Order: sequence, then structure tokens, then C-alpha cells
Amino acid sequence: MAVDILQISKDAIEASKKYNDVINASIGMFYDEEKAIGGMPTVSKMIKNLSDDEMLPYPAVDGGALFKNNLITWVFGKYESEIRRNMYVSACATPGGSGAIASTFSQYANPGDFIFVSDIRWQYERFAERAGLNIFEHKLFKGDSFDIESFESRLKELCKKQKQVIVIVNDPCHNPTGYTLSEQEFNQIIQILNAQKDNEIVFLYDLAYLEYSHEEDNRKKMTFLPQLKEHVLTIIAFSGSKTFGIYGMRLGAAIMLSKNEEKVKKAHPKYVNEARGSWSATPTMSIELFNKFAIEENRNEFLKDLNKINSLVQERSVTFIEQAKEVGLSTHPFRSGFYTVVLTKDPDVDYLKLAKHRIFAVPMSGGVRFALCSLSRNEIDGLPQKIKTILEL
Ligand code: PLP
Repeated sequence: MAVDILQISKDAIEASKKYNDVINASIGMFYDEEKAIGGMPTVSKMIKNLSDDEMLPYPAVDGGALFKNNLITWVFGKYESEIRRNMYVSACATPGGSGAIASTFSQYANPGDFIFVSDIRWQYERFAERAGLNIFEHKLFKGDSFDIESFESRLKELCKKQKQVIVIVNDPCHNPTGYTLSEQEFNQIIQILNAQKDNEIVFLYDLAYLEYSHEEDNRKKMTFLPQLKEHVLTIIAFSGSKTFGIYGMRLGAAIMLSKNEEKVKKAHPKYVNEARGSWSATPTMSIELFNKFAIEENRNEFLKDLNKINSLVQERSVTFIEQAKEVGLSTHPFRSGFYTVVLTKDPDVDYLKLAKHRIFAVPMSGGVRFALCSLSRNEIDGLPQKIKTILEL
């Protein structure tokens, strides 16, 4: 869908200069109950305390050894040694998770190729268009579960046409639906990737919202990765924007892992070259900020802030979903995260109708997406009823 989320957000900001009842549910940024963006004071404080040396010089293009090690430890948590024992691992800093996605597309696909994505998804086509790539879809849902049959049959179809295939999985807290795969579903995906052994699979695992998952153990799925066979190269797209609420600082990374040593060895310079020939490097202050939070006592302070906003985001979402159910609005199956989608007949028309009533949200295939992370509890209370009335659902 060709709408520009940032433009909808700008329209909302313009409207709020004239009216005081604007609901801006367009963009995936956390705002607190007073509508302030600095919901994690430990992060804001740490940024302000960075020294010139931690902000001004050029960084190592890949973030440097300390950053890479800190990142791998952060993402894999208690499973780091298990992963390192069983797979080759490397990493490169990127400007946001977006940088990891863009460089994966340009390094692992040729213009005209297809990338494999779900029918309901975040805006991967933006990155694909720029790299001259096409979209090959599988169905995301069958009823209230992941449509594993569609994933398998469509991937097999594509693998017959194309030797090297980028497979994107956005989990947990899928954007835009808020769905999180069960461990069983994730494991099935792994087995299906393994079965495509005549192909080269690049498994782009976009876990931008890892920290917002309400699974009992949000890193447990990492333990399935070592099962992946040599024909699979996994690229984890990490987003510092979502993790730390620092959307404009452009912190992110690609973590490359595989059973195949050669694949990982070759991947690292590809990401470094991609950076040097485009955005040059990830901001030094973002890299250094991450390194600060890798220190245990800082991390513990950060986790207190994170837990607070994480519970608040979940509370907002649950309120919205419950009220939506009460008034008879349908949503995609939701588990946790920043967004939910209200199913509507004509999303491209419906989001404009809502905007006329100063409710700004984003059309997606099948419905309109509401970024509940950016709304206060007050704004959410009664919102489903308003949506229902405006859209006559
Ligand atoms: N992946 C998903 C699913 C997202 O929703 C986003 C941002 O909205 C990103 C990746 C990239 O975020 P960033 O580039 O800010 O890290």
C-alpha cells in the first residue's frame, strides 16, 4: 500500500495545532500518559551524559568488537553460549533495523528477484522497490493461528523458481497485527527452511519488538536457530529504536549466523561494504549508548524503565482489544506489541474517514492499523466505539 506513515503522522501533528482532540495512532513510537516521548528516563539521562569522545569521532563501521560482543550477548541472553557453540556468528552495526533490512536486500538478492513475506506485513516493499525486488506472499493467518501450510507451499513454489531466497519473519509482536508465533509455529518454520536444501535460504529474522513480547521467555525461540542447516544464513535485524525508544538515533544491527562458516565469513564484509558505500557508518553516539547499557548495573536500571512501559503498552492494547470485542469490531489475532489492526472493508477509504474525525491511523491490507503504543489510556478508552460509529461497522 502506497501510503506514507510519516506523512499521516505529520498530518496528525498539523491537525493537533488546531484541535485538542486529535488522536494520533499512526506511528510506532512510545508516548507516555502525558504524551511525552522520553518514556525511559534512564535512556534520556545516559544520552545527555555521553562525552564528546563518545559522540563525535567516526565509529568503526561495524560498531567495533565491544559493540558486536555486547550486541550478541544482549540479543541471545542466556542462550548465547549455546548459539556460539553451535553456529558461526558475526555482526555489523546498521542505522536502525531498517539498515539491516536494506543491506540484506541489496546483498542477497538481484534486481528482479522475489522476496518471501506474509500478506499482512510492515512496509518491506519500500526496501524491495529500492532494490528492484518483487514480493512473493504467503498467507499470515489461518483462523487465529499462523498459516503454516501457506508458508510451506508458497515457499516451495518460490524455491522452484529462484535459487537464493530471502525469507522474512517478523516476530515477536508482529507489525501490524501484534501476533507472536508460538514456539511450535516457530519450530515448524525452521523445519520448513531446512527442507529447502537445494536452495540458498537467507532467513531475515526481524525481531524489532523483541523486548515487548509477553512470552514467558522471549529468547527461547533463539534455541531453535542452531537446528538450521548449512544452506541457511540467518540475519537477525535488531532495532535499537524500539528497544530503547530512541527512534531518531538510528541504532540497529545485523547479526549473521549459520552452521556454514564460509557464509558468515563472507557476510561480514558485505555489510561493512554496504555501509561504506551508502550511509557510511552508524552514529557513534548510538553505538556508545548501547555499550553503556551492556554494563550490568545500567542494564538493570534500563530494564526497570522498560518493564514499566512494556506493561503500560500491554494494558493499553488489552483495553483496546476488550472494548473492540464488546462493540463488535474485529481485529487480527493479537498477543502483544505496539499495534493492532481493526478489520475494515475498504482500508484506503476508511483511514481517510477516520482522519476527517481527527483519528489518524494507517491503512493496511485488510484493515486500519492503530499504534496503541502512542496513545494514552484516556485516548484509548472509548476509541473502539468511535471507530465503529465513524466507519459504520
Ligand atoms: N521492523 C519492523 C517490523 C518495524 O516495525 C520497524 C519500525 O517501525 C523496523 C523493523 C525498523 O525500525 P528502525 O529502523 O527504526 O530500527
